[in-house]
Amino acid sequence: MRVAFLGLGAIGQPMAGHLARANQLTVWNRTRAAADRFVDTHGGRAAGTPREAVEGAEVVLTCLPTSREVEALLDGPDGILAALLRGALFLDCTSGDPESAQRIARRLAERGVAFADCPVSGGTNGAQAGTLTVMVGADPGTFARARPLLASFGKRIEHLGPVGAGSAMKAVNNALLAVNILSFGEGFTALVKAGVPARKALEVLNASSGRSFVTESLVPDRVLTGAWPNTFRLALLDKDVGIAVRFLHSQGVESPLLHLASELFHDAHAALGENADYLEAIRLQEQRAGVEIRG
Ligand code: NDP
Repeated sequence: MRVAFLGLGAIGQPMAGHLARANQLTVWNRTRAAADRFVDTHGGRAAGTPREAVEGAEVVLTCLPTSREVEALLDGPDGILAALLRGALFLDCTSGDPESAQRIARRLAERGVAFADCPVSGGTNGAQAGTLTVMVGADPGTFARARPLLASFGKRIEHLGPVGAGSAMKAVNNALLAVNILSFGEGFTALVKAGVPARKALEVLNASSGRSFVTESLVPDRVLTGAWPNTFRLALLDKDVGIAVRFLHSQGVESPLLHLASELFHDAHAALGENADYLEAIRLQEQRAGVEIRG
């Protein structure tokens, strides 16, 4: 198929890499060098503008920080809408917010373009392996059209409801991730202070009921080793928890815990800046407690 992919960031780049294998792919990235590097490695074509990227495309995928950046690419003489074909399919893999997804879907529907919000989970490793979980909000017909493409980088592809449902699911997932990160940091700095060896404590936790993806998959390789790789910006998780809090509010659900997680990630974002990795929230807690969780 003729496919356009816009947004070759940490996760977009490996996702697009899978699409390049079986499709005629055109990529666009705000910083051109990333698109040129991508084409050198994977083939396809690099476009100079969003408009040029989507010219003739049957499917357009976006993977940008927030819904705001996606909406901003729609308009203007070099924007997506200037060239998007009637009958095209627009898949937004950004972890966006439900209201924006619905607004984008309405604008595209006026032009005969189908839309699905399809944020992903599984991190940059999952994107490289092609094993992402994809959370789709769309009408059933659009989901059926989207599924084969999403399968290029996704293993579990779930239709969660109408447009916006994928974004809501993703925000709740990431809010729970944030809570797990913070609670791990608090509990383990206390254990280390009390003299319990960090690795032994982690092994016991992971054989017990308090374990989580954070403690099983992230802490061993990234925290205990002190490796702290950059794979997912803390700024983006801050954004996700904010989306979750607003989503819960929109449903009339009280959320004291997620409100606090949102405030704490907001503070961590302010303290650590735009480029810190999300697990550095644990490092911040280590600094406050005066111990390191290593072993
Ligand atoms: P990055 O920060 O690594 O990359 C962001 C991408 O968006 C880059 O291509 C960047 O271009 C582009 N961009 C930023 N601002 C603008 C703008 N104003 N206009 C146009 N393009 C812009 O983010 P990720 O790839 O990590 O994340 C992308 C989305 O995927 C986010 O919604 C994130 O929450 C989600 N996600 C990320 C995961 C991860 O593990 N990294 C996991 C699951 C979801 P440039 O190169 O010019 O900076």
